[in-house]
Amino acid sequence: MLNIKMDLSKTKKEKPDEKNLSFGKYYTDNMFIMDYTEGKGWHDPRIVPYQNISLDPAAMVFHYAQESFEGLKAYKTADGSIQLFRPDKNAERMQSTHKRICIPEVPVEDFVQAVKTLVSVEKDWVPSEPETSLYLRPFVIATEAHLGVKPSSTYMFMVIASPVGAYYEEGMNPVKIFVEDEYVRATPGGTGFIKCGGNYAASLASQVKAHDLGYSQVLWLDGVERKYVEEVGSMNIFFKIDGKFYTAPTSGTVLPGVTRMSCIELLKKWGYEVKEEHIAIVDIMKAAKDGKLEEVFGTGTAAVISPVGELRYEDEIARINDFKTGDITQKLYDTLTGIQWGKIKDDMNWTVKVD
Ligand SMILES: *Cc1c(COP(=O)(O)O)cnc(C)c1O
Repeated sequence: MLNIKMDLSKTKKEKPDEKNLSFGKYYTDNMFIMDYTEGKGWHDPRIVPYQNISLDPAAMVFHYAQESFEGLKAYKTADGSIQLFRPDKNAERMQSTHKRICIPEVPVEDFVQAVKTLVSVEKDWVPSEPETSLYLRPFVIATEAHLGVKPSSTYMFMVIASPVGAYYEEGMNPVKIFVEDEYVRATPGGTGFIKCGGNYAASLASQVKAHDLGYSQVLWLDGVERKYVEEVGSMNIFFKIDGKFYTAPTSGTVLPGVTRMSCIELLKKWGYEVKEEHIAIVDIMKAAKDGKLEEVFGTGTAAVISPVGELRYEDEIARINDFKTGDITQKLYDTLTGIQWGKIKDDMNWTVKVD
């Protein structure tokens, strides 16, 4: 158990209009911080007023991107209680990220306690309008001032919180996706399976290119042959072909999403076959032509489920399900959001109450 020191903000910011929150625009009054020093371990956990942090310009995070992050949400239920969705999975994933980029691990129970405590302090910031939530961003940065390349000897673990609105302001509508065949996101042996900022820096050029062409997201192909589908922007992706579901395996190059994992568990519970396999983009385009590509959707904490209405690969365009949200896509969305906002019974035991 962490002994978290409370040094809370004396002033309270004005709360934003819950009907116009958008994503990552507002931050709560306080934040969680904990330091790491080699030889001493993680120490001084505290909740302090939300504020700028001061770092030496030589701090290693700025130069060599030794940094990790997570993303999860706190939801307000109809009876006014607040709950998290599988926070232990985020904590475990952060540990796997840290192993890969030589950051000391944060114990799972300390991660969960830090998140829960901050949410509890910021209770009033958890919005209650439909589909709104308090987005939590735990992250760790390397803080040692040193220009030689090596793992830092000091770090900061922080959690900040941001009230967010429904991801799609006009309701859930299918998105258009551009299949990237020039740049790659991840290669075997690299960092594709972890949540680190560097992966995102490398993805921006494709994102800009896709936007310029009128597509909202990029679908990444494997980094070796540029042949097999991997994932989308900040989401995993599923294809329903001829009654079966396919999604890329998470070994090595694909981020193991908590939403992905939860969808697989639900689909299997509902009796569907889910294949975690490498599937070639040409086979997906062919399935679309043959009328067998029934549904496509992305999964991630921010959007929950995002139906895909169009895929563009080179000069070919596949329209999916007449650009309408598929039945199972909708059912997954309704079930996951139902559990998250406490509207349906959580018989999977996925939610954790915050008191
Ligand atoms: C965070 C993330 C996801 C989705 O993971 P969830 O745990 O479902 O939010 C998918 N792909 C990438 C690259 C990510 O960073």
